[in-house]
Amino acid sequence: MSQTQTTEEVLVLVKPDGVARGLIGQVIGRAEARGYQVTRLELRRATPELLAAHYAEHVNKPFYPGLVEYMTSGPVVAVVLAGAQVITAFRTMAGATDPIKAAPGTIRGDFGRDWGDGEIRNIVHASDSPESAAREIAIWFP
Ligand code: UDP
Ligand code: MG
Repeated sequence: MSQTQTTEEVLVLVKPDGVARGLIGQVIGRAEARGYQVTRLELRRATPELLAAHYAEHVNKPFYPGLVEYMTSGPVVAVVLAGAQVITAFRTMAGATDPIKAAPGTIRGDFGRDWGDGEIRNIVHASDSPESAAREIAIWFP
């Protein structure tokens, strides 16, 4: 039997709506309840420059200006979680991007909604691959 240990890290952001609505503890608590370890944690404000790096794949999308407005509307909490397969696990816990499509039991499905203004506000960001996680952790925790 292999003894290889494959601990991963994932970058999670509690987005401005999550911070403003008092959901920091519930987001981090869900990860802790599953046994994942918090290895970095910081409350901070995202700048447009930082977001352009973080969301490099989206900078030319039509929703990007609204995304920057959303992500700079208040402080965010940047968290690094560690554990085997935590990237896949936390993406599953976050749920679908659109809270209306996110399954009950997920963070977005339990805490998100359509606020009637055409903007997606979905409480959390989570890295979607080991490559994204390494890139995003280096951006938020250089
Ligand atoms: N987003 C948006 N409108 C869209 C698609 C995405 O406002 O049509 C925002 C939303 O906040 C999302 C983020 O852009 O979380 C990044 O989009 P992505 O498709 O990578 O979704 P995620 O990985 O966050 O589920
Ligand atoms: Mg994404």
